[in-house]
Parts: sequence; structure tokens; C-alpha cells
Amino acid sequence: MSEIIETKVLIIGSGPAGYTAAIYAARANLKPIMVTGNQPGGQLTITTDVENYPGFAKAIEGPFLMEQMREQAENVGTEIVYNMIADVDFSARPFTATDDSGNVYKADTVIISTGAKARWLGLPSEEKFMGLGVSACATCDGFFFKGKEVTVIGGGNSAVEEALFLTNFCSKVTLIHRRDELRAEKVMQDRLFANEKVEVIWDSTVEEVVGVGHGEDGTPGMTGVRIKNTKTGDESVVDCHGMFVAIGHDPATSLFKDKLPMDDEGYLIVEAGTPKTNIDGVYAAGDVTDKIYRQAVTAAGMGCMAALDADKFIAANE
Ligand code: NDP
Repeated sequence: MSEIIETKVLIIGSGPAGYTAAIYAARANLKPIMVTGNQPGGQLTITTDVENYPGFAKAIEGPFLMEQMREQAENVGTEIVYNMIADVDFSARPFTATDDSGNVYKADTVIISTGAKARWLGLPSEEKFMGLGVSACATCDGFFFKGKEVTVIGGGNSAVEEALFLTNFCSKVTLIHRRDELRAEKVMQDRLFANEKVEVIWDSTVEEVVGVGHGEDGTPGMTGVRIKNTKTGDESVVDCHGMFVAIGHDPATSLFKDKLPMDDEGYLIVEAGTPKTNIDGVYAAGDVTDKIYRQAVTAAGMGCMAALDADKFIAANE
């Protein structure tokens, strides 16, 4: 049976931003409720080694990190609801949100931390080599490809930034783009073309990731990508140990369409340097509002800021 649930702080989404907001809100005695969404733990639950989240001397697994965050949030007093918010109404306070089971949350403040998802090429072989060379985050995984050859797919700022970052570790970085010009800013392009470790392959799409899969003969790992020239139809294989897909991200914001301001790409707009949306008491934290940094630690920082702001807002309005 559906219920009406009242809370001072409703947190929508359960990545690093959401859990950090939950920890801070719970420790401020606000008894937050978190509704997890359909991928509890978010993007980190589909990564393997995490070496850049401070506080762990050795690499940890993404799912382990998220499990720790969940337990920490619960231990300090967060109520976690494994459900999906289907609708929100921010037109009056208390704000309301309805989940898939028809439960209605009445909340004094709402922290949105629904995150974003990396876009993938959608090839079965891409999935097969996920964690065996295929990645969507050079900052997270580049270090594992020290001295190796890698490819980056895409032609926007992310692809160029990832390619340049990878030149710090890799012996060669091949950027593969489906057109004959990049979408990235000119200054980024200049940097890319000036880097001797970078080669660009134009007018080409990835048809298949090749290599040895789990359970197959040989050491598991990708060995290359088979590409097709879009103009000539010619196919060839580019030898590489890693493929970084950088073809954009989709923020999970469809729920907030026409309810909160967002940019052309659907990221929620907040007041610069804060997690404040244009509605007092509604905050956005993490990748749902950040297309530049996209790190677990930056998301966690924003989650903390959102909880501190929510606390102040509640105190001022009580
Ligand atoms: P973009 O949407 O800007 O670029 C995506 C790129 O991927 C495009 O070149 C696109 O090709 C290509 N692409 C899309 N789908 C496919 C596909 N299925 N197969 C092959 N290629 C594909 O995404 P970004 O992540 O690069 O950037 C998103 C936003 O974040 C932008 O506003 C960007 O400016 C910003 N950003 C800013 C940074 C900074 O300021 N430091 C760093 C990173 C991002 P095509 O060009 O043909 O459409």
C-alpha cells in the first residue's frame, strides 16, 4: 500500500554525491531519506579498480567503495529506500516526489544527485572487453595503461582532453573520430595536434573490439579495434591495449524537465560555486550538474555542500 512519508531532506540518487549528502544531513540530525534509483551506487558500481578516491592507500573496487558509503550513510541515520522517483512537484513547499510504488514523499528540501551515464558505442564486443581495456574514464583508468598504446573514440572536448591526459602514461594515443573535423574547442585541438604521441584517424567508426575474452584461451584483454572508413568502406585493425570511449554523457534529468532550469545538454543549472538550483530548498550535486570534473571526489564534495545548505535553509525556515 502506498504511503505518505514526511522528511526534512529527500535525496534522489545514490552515487557519491547522494551518499555524502546523506552522511552530512544525517549527522545534522535531519533524518534524511534517500531514494536510490534503479542503479544503487551509481556509475562506480560498474568500474573495477579505484585508485583516486582519497583515504585508501591501495586500489579498491568501485562496488566496495559504494557499499562502504551506503553503510556509512545508514550507520549515521539515513533511511534508504530502494525505489525510483517517478514524478516531482517543486511548485510549493513541502516539495513532493512520488516513487514507482505510489509512495509520496513530502520534503522540506530536496537534494538531486541522479548522476549521469557515459554513452557507449553499443557494440557487444565493447561490453565483452569492459574492464579488460574498454573504459569511459581516462582520469580513472589511464594509469593502468602505462607505456601502452590506446585509442580514444570521439571528437568533442572530452575526447581531446582524455587523449591529452593519456599521453602522460601511454606510448601512443590514437584518436578515432567519425567525421573529418573535431567538435572540440580550437585551443584543445591545437594542443592535440601538437602532441607527438597523438595520431588522429578521421572518418572512421569502431566496428568491433578484438582480443581475448574471459574464459577464452590466452591472457584476457583487448588487443585492438577494427575500424571502418565511412567514406571508402575500408576496414582495418588498430592495435591497442585500451579503448576510451568519450562520446558524451547523458545526465539523468528527464524527471526535472520543465521543473528546473537545465542547459542544452540536460545538465541542471546551479548558482556558480554552489549546489543551489533556482528553487530555494532544491539542490543539485554531482554529475547531474557537472559536465567538467565528473569525479567521485568532486561529486562527494558537492553532496556535502548541498547538505550543509539544506541544513541552513531548514534552520532559517523553521
Ligand atoms: P560532445 O557531445 O561535445 O562530443 C561527443 C563527441 O562524440 C562528438 O565528437 C561526436 O561526434 C562523437 N560521438 C557521439 N556519438 C558517437 C557515436 N555513437 N560514435 C562515434 N562518435 C560519436 O561530448 P563531450 O563529452 O566531449 O562534451 C560534453 C560537454 O562537456 C560539452 O559541452 C563540452 O564542451 C563540455 N566539456 C568541457 C570540458 C572543458 O571545458 N574542459 C571538458 C569536457 C567536456 P560528432 O562530432 O560527429 O557529433
